[in-house]
Amino acid sequence: MKPPSFKLWIKIGALVPLLFICIFVGFVFPDSTVSKGLSFVASAILIPLCLMGGIMGVLLSMNRLFFRCPFCSAKSRAIGGGGRCLWIECPTCGVISGTFSRFPPLTWRIEKETDQGGDGEAGEDV
Ligand SMILES: [Zn+2]
Repeated sequence: MKPPSFKLWIKIGALVPLLFICIFVGFVFPDSTVSKGLSFVASAILIPLCLMGGIMGVLLSMNRLFFRCPFCSAKSRAIGGGGRCLWIECPTCGVISGTFSRFPPLTWRIEKETDQGGDGEAGEDV
């Protein structure tokens, strides 16, 4: 089984605040068909995503969560994550961090972390 694409998951993570906004709009304007439909669709997407997020959290805590490296497609272990970011460790590229910002929604960034493999990066605490 191929691990899921890291890039795809970062994009999905960036989309989540947008879904929350859609649901919120549905609560604010409960009489509008458009906002009701919007919040219905958003919850239909968000609920399975939350379930998947929960499963991924469990896998992450067991060190069994893998993604495909966005640079070389190698199987990379997820090494950590926070509310707004996720780190994977690629066997060839090293540590890669993916971040999705809180606002505006739909912004995301993937970058390689400079680690001790580089040319003497200063300020690395042991
Ligand atoms: Zn890689």
